[in-house]
Amino acid sequence: MKIVLASSNIHKVQEINEIVKSSHPDLDLEFVLPPEDFDPDENGKTFEENSYIKAHAAWKLSKTWTLADDSGLCIDALGGNPGIYSARYAETPVLRIQRVLRELEGVAEEKRTARFCCAMTLINPKGDIEYNVLGKCEGKIISQARGINGFGYDPIFVPDGYNTTIAELSEEEKNEISHRGNALREVLRYICNK
Ligand code: IMP
Repeated sequence: MKIVLASSNIHKVQEINEIVKSSHPDLDLEFVLPPEDFDPDENGKTFEENSYIKAHAAWKLSKTWTLADDSGLCIDALGGNPGIYSARYAETPVLRIQRVLRELEGVAEEKRTARFCCAMTLINPKGDIEYNVLGKCEGKIISQARGINGFGYDPIFVPDGYNTTIAELSEEEKNEISHRGNALREVLRYICNK
């Protein structure tokens, strides 16, 4: 079975196919890119809304099973920011990290709680929402970036139960605990039980 992944990011497609292979080695399922003219207007106010907008846009073009995800980092001391603005919080990934660290200056360690969130929406060939879920990964924001793996805010995020940042974990270790991994495993459980 093929499912269109509502993203033009080939790396995301590969990452998600890796998670499928490692968590459900016997499942005959492959995620593929949407048609080239996929270009939705992500103007929702929540991860869930944006995820639905993307999934529905990909369904309109392909009229088959589609899955979309929308994710970001929510920091309690910043009222949930950067949240849905995670990709746009500053111009480059380094500047985005610098902005977060600047805004958290003087905030005590125990108040630097945060979570990565990932909303996933699965749409069936009729265009209806078949399943949706919000995956999370809880942790805290440290005051100096550490590690070179991963992307985005990984170098400043230490997951609960760890002493390392996500950027100091391997890809496999990250997938086991990540917001995207957790959401995807729920989607796969749903598909397997259907
Ligand atoms: P997207 O919805 O997956 O495109 O993610 C939006 C933004 O959230 C990214 O550009 C990153 O800044 C941030 N983000 C999402 N997932 C992760 C992650 O796993 N690690 C670090 N940053 C992330």
